[in-house]
Amino acid sequence: MAITRFAPSPTGYLHIGGLRTALYSYLWARKTNGEFKLRIEDTDTSRNNDAAMEAIINAFDWVGLNYDGKVEYQSKRLDIYKKYIDQLLEEGKAYRCYMSREELDALREEQMANKQTSRYDGTWRPEDGKVLPAIPEGAEPVIRIKSPEEGVITFIDGIKSTMSFDCIEVDDFVIARSNGMPTYNFVVAIDDALMGITDVIRGDDHLTNTPKQIIIYEALGFTVPKFCHVPMINNPQGKKLSKRDGALDVMDYKRQGYLPEALLNFLVRLGWSNKDQEIFSMDEMLELFDPSNINKSASSYNEEKLLWLNAHYIKNVSNDRLAKELESFDCYLNGHDKKEMILDLSKERAQTLIELKESISKIIDAPTTYEAKGSRKFVKEGTAQMLENYLNILEQKKDTLHLVADYELLTKPFIEEHKLKFPELFQPIRIALTGGTQAPSVYDIMAILGFDEVKSRVNKALELNFNKE
Ligand code: GLU
Repeated sequence: MAITRFAPSPTGYLHIGGLRTALYSYLWARKTNGEFKLRIEDTDTSRNNDAAMEAIINAFDWVGLNYDGKVEYQSKRLDIYKKYIDQLLEEGKAYRCYMSREELDALREEQMANKQTSRYDGTWRPEDGKVLPAIPEGAEPVIRIKSPEEGVITFIDGIKSTMSFDCIEVDDFVIARSNGMPTYNFVVAIDDALMGITDVIRGDDHLTNTPKQIIIYEALGFTVPKFCHVPMINNPQGKKLSKRDGALDVMDYKRQGYLPEALLNFLVRLGWSNKDQEIFSMDEMLELFDPSNINKSASSYNEEKLLWLNAHYIKNVSNDRLAKELESFDCYLNGHDKKEMILDLSKERAQTLIELKESISKIIDAPTTYEAKGSRKFVKEGTAQMLENYLNILEQKKDTLHLVADYELLTKPFIEEHKLKFPELFQPIRIALTGGTQAPSVYDIMAILGFDEVKSRVNKALELNFNKE
């Protein structure tokens, strides 16, 4: 039973990389009948804002990741952190350091000049028999943790196997600033421990924080959780993913007409695989996901793949669902008597809900202009007469015209009798009905529109002479 969490810092929108680690954490918790928790890391008040917090919650709602219990906000847990700082001071595992900013800068410069790694030099670290400097007047101390001075900090990462950090690489880092505010690694370790997190699944940009957090766990006698550091998502050129490569904000995917199923499917595969399977329903993800199968190397963002998945889900979700989704794009089909036909026809080609809306509009909204190139090519002398004849034929049997097959039945003999090639009849009609030459099958459009609307659109196009002059 894994207890996992997602712990975003609300400094902006929810990044798709964040959503991917959230999804992995969610799947692992649900698969093991554990719990998935949400914690907002909002102690850096200068960088947080309420809108960003709301954006995270909204994005979770949109993709349908539900979390257990209440959302924890670090900003509301300051008393808890203070208690542990006091405890560490009392136990002699942390100490006050009065080194000024200038002294620290000078130390760093000296270490750089000597080509040493920059680290705190332990001036204020209490040791048996050591005499500490006199406390400078009026100075407010920071609190530092006593980190082990030698040895190795080792943990088994669920993805990267054994990770070892030389203690020399981790200095006595600050756990509380001079204004009393606890620092990042300190609060993360405390929260994860108190929230009972068993598996920390997060981006590998946090890898170097882990030894520091382990030091806190050990100082406080907490059980160290399992860690899984997920490799980053790169752009197709192998560089850090940026806005130029596609959207980063999860909600932009909604605005661009992606279905949440497609985005989650895309993200689960971006860094994890199960044989060569590409399509995963949520049930399949839950059945098959295991963090130990997460790839060890960075994955590459591929927009084509996302579009392909989205097209798949658009084709496969119910028409009712599509009609509902389309309402966010001001396309209303509920109540339309041909809703099923319209969607069955349009969803075959759409890669996004925006494309779907566009192809629906092409059918249900009468065109106001006609594609000039197509009109020049397909509307010739005799076309008007032919269309009138054709409408007459249809009109005589108007009451029998409902389905595609009904139109076919009357059209085929007409074509034969007049020795027409299909495009000679269909392209002018397609232009008259939709404004262009690219729309789906003319029979389908006619069946959706019904004879009266077909007649009215064809007549209108003839009246305007297909905008030819
Ligand atoms: N708040 C951190 C972030 O947004 C995540 C911390 C963690 O997962 O341990 O990157």
